[in-house]
Amino acid sequence: MARLFVSDVHLNDAAPAAIEQFLGFLAAHAAGAAALYILGDLFESWVGDDERSRAAQRVCAGLRALTAGGVPCFVLHGNRDFLLGAGFCARTGCRLLGDPVVAELDGERVLLTHGDALCTDDHSYQELRSVVRDPGWQRRFLALPLSSRELLAEEARAGSRAHTARTVPDIMDVNPAAVAAAFSAARVRRMIHGHTHREAVHDLQVDGAPVQRIVLGAWYERGSYLSCEGGKYQLRGLPR
Ligand code: MN
Repeated sequence: MARLFVSDVHLNDAAPAAIEQFLGFLAAHAAGAAALYILGDLFESWVGDDERSRAAQRVCAGLRALTAGGVPCFVLHGNRDFLLGAGFCARTGCRLLGDPVVAELDGERVLLTHGDALCTDDHSYQELRSVVRDPGWQRRFLALPLSSRELLAEEARAGSRAHTARTVPDIMDVNPAAVAAAFSAARVRRMIHGHTHREAVHDLQVDGAPVQRIVLGAWYERGSYLSCEGGKYQLRGLPR
């Protein structure tokens, strides 16, 4: 049985076709898998585990059905849904993993990460990241009323769109030195990440040895996932 990986599904109420496709993917593909790994940004935003969007309700029910059927589902935080917490896990039966994390897949140690921490050329984003990942900031944010958090999240999304629109595309890709450092620190030969939406398999050399960086695609225009079976990795598209 294969292990499946997705990231950057970016689900919200404004994208009903993506929600349908993701729920279909859970039922048709993930339900028969050995495990599902969601490497961040499953949701376009997540203001706390009391999140009440229709997208959240439907997707959490779909994940609950998956895990109740015996398929383990592991979730990493993305830069949009870094407030997924214990309540989300209780709702869905998913397990949150740290970022980065080394998983043992078919006997091989593989580094899993959302990928935003590798984009070190985007200084203003990295500053924002260190603020919102601070436990004190998160406690204060989560103490706000739900309606205030929803408003702030909407403003943050608008700010993110403006930043993305005025930033040189290469600045928002991974930094090669950060990638090499991540391979060396984890002592792995393969990493899987998302975030950049640049779906690809990169074969490169780190410390004189061949390594592979697999980048998962985003689900804005179509679905996609990575399948790992018997040590063989394949990126697959899902037409919409
Ligand atoms: Mn991301």
